[in-house]
Amino acid sequence: MKTAILSIGDELLLGEVVDTNSARIAARLADAGIATARKLTVGDDEGAIAGALESLAREHDVIIATGGLGPTDDDVTARAAARATGRRLVLNEEAMARLREFFVRLGREMHPANGRQCLLPAKAELIPNPTGTASGFHLLLDGCLLIFLPGVPAEMAVMLEETVVPLVLARRGGYQCTRTSTLTVFGLSEAEIGSRLSDLDRSRPGFAVAYCVEYPVVQVKLRATGADEGALAALLEDMAALVRERLGGHVVAGDGETIDTTVARLFRETGMTLSLAESCTGGLVAARITAISGSSAYFLLGAVTYANDAKARLLGVSDGLLAEKGAVNAEVAKAMARGARRLAGSDLALAVTGIAGPDGGSPDKPVGTVFIALADRAGCTAKGYHFSGDRDRIRTITAVTAMDWLRRRLLAG
Ligand code: ATP
Ligand code: MG
Repeated sequence: MKTAILSIGDELLLGEVVDTNSARIAARLADAGIATARKLTVGDDEGAIAGALESLAREHDVIIATGGLGPTDDDVTARAAARATGRRLVLNEEAMARLREFFVRLGREMHPANGRQCLLPAKAELIPNPTGTASGFHLLLDGCLLIFLPGVPAEMAVMLEETVVPLVLARRGGYQCTRTSTLTVFGLSEAEIGSRLSDLDRSRPGFAVAYCVEYPVVQVKLRATGADEGALAALLEDMAALVRERLGGHVVAGDGETIDTTVARLFRETGMTLSLAESCTGGLVAARITAISGSSAYFLLGAVTYANDAKARLLGVSDGLLAEKGAVNAEVAKAMARGARRLAGSDLALAVTGIAGPDGGSPDKPVGTVFIALADRAGCTAKGYHFSGDRDRIRTITAVTAMDWLRRRLLAG
């Protein structure tokens, strides 16, 4: 089934408003296994809208349009729909009744201009708008289902969910659908991942691999298109297993998960507890941990020990060590981790110390030098990294690397 989205509004063409409606619709349809074949934007112009509807209808089975259903003179979508389908504009009694009811519920007088919103193409089927004045509607043009929704994103979203998705799904019967499975990869470049997986892309009919970089992780998207949903699910499962085999421990999250939710799940499953001592990340790791609801079950304490004095007094890092070697080295990272573990009485303690820049670097410790340490019952290990990029990127990749340390440690049991 070929689906197109038509966004209507001068403000979209002028760049005053970002077209979030089409993204929302496309994502919701993708969720339901329906790929969008095309997106188009036109202004509030009757001829342009009618022309777009006619040409899209020739090549698509469903068109979802948003915008221009309001009560003002620049709202011409209903007129354009009538023109494209060769129907008259008539007063839709059901729309009128709903609109009157809407204003009664609001306890407000209806403005006569609102009545204009009930002038719809003859025989259009109504799509109720529970939260606004503009009813949506749908009708057929040469076998193509045309769907019209108001532009207000919140109203559009309710109608999409309540009426449009079921309507489109009912129409799909027998058509092909597309399913996507996403694996999140950390610690390998996009190029490296691409070369390890290059033979998988298009290795089966209707199957493709796509990559999406969301620094510092790369998402590998496995897409399968076909008529048999069960077969698609099985194919994606097989392919995901192959990807995991090729990329090993670098796959940090499966479908519907992130590295952070994976770590949260592993903490819940293992029953281990955590404390943190952070310097250059300033609490970013703690923020990621606590962003997941339920983290209070395993996260005991996080300390942002920015000053040397705080590292010494709070975590027991030796003044002599700090004076002799500075704050950014493996020994200090280890002492911070041990100190946090002692302070919190947690099973695991992770510490981060580094130079996020742009100032503070030196020839032997350039900006991007970071040490991470992890303490547990058996001991403490530390490792140094040289990350590149600006302050923001260095702090981000440090926090994600820390999450990956936790993930690997928890998987090890
Ligand atoms: P109503 O008259 O009930 O508000 P409408 O169908 O006339 O609905 P528009 O006038 O086109 O809708 O837009 C209403 C609001 O929604 C405006 O603030 C507009 O900027 C916003 N909007 C319209 N289209 C989009 C879109 N594609 N993405 C995000 N916002 C949009
Ligand atoms: Mg408009």
